[in-house]
Amino acid sequence: MTFDDGPVPEVTPWVLSVLADFKARATFFVVGENVKKHPEVFRRIVEQGHSIGNHTYNHLKGWKTGDKGYLENCRKCAEVLNQEGGLFRPPYGRMRKSQIKEVLKMYEKIVMWDVLSYDFDKLLSPEVCLKKVLRKSREGSIVVFHDSIKAKDNLEFVLPRFLEAFSNKEFVFEPLSV
Ligand SMILES: [Zn+2]
Repeated sequence: MTFDDGPVPEVTPWVLSVLADFKARATFFVVGENVKKHPEVFRRIVEQGHSIGNHTYNHLKGWKTGDKGYLENCRKCAEVLNQEGGLFRPPYGRMRKSQIKEVLKMYEKIVMWDVLSYDFDKLLSPEVCLKKVLRKSREGSIVVFHDSIKAKDNLEFVLPRFLEAFSNKEFVFEPLSV
């Protein structure tokens, strides 16, 4: 399980407590400016044994940003995370080829996903969101959720039910590593 775009105090602490209830560990692709604003929430993610990835400082669109600016933004995020190398996920899952090349000089892995929950989609009901994510997830899946205000309503319904369904099938939830 991966959680993008946090940390935010309105959602992330709740996510952490649900994950703890199911003894699940995940990977959080954090936005640097949110970490800067909410260092105590960020600390809790790390203390709970989840892994952390860089998701740029300002959630940049790579295809709308020059390479130099994009790389600087990634470095700025790495600085607040106090983390050299590791995992990177481009916002929106997209960036220029030249940016991929540069990012791979700084990071061991660029992590995409095979299951996108669409938890951020206000047009999707929580029930349908859950049904889709349950159907698409399988052993070894990398599933994307969002610990963001936008995704909150769907996530509050989907996350505990997702964890329960797969815990009942004896799945374990491991954080990604390099
Ligand atoms: Zn994102």
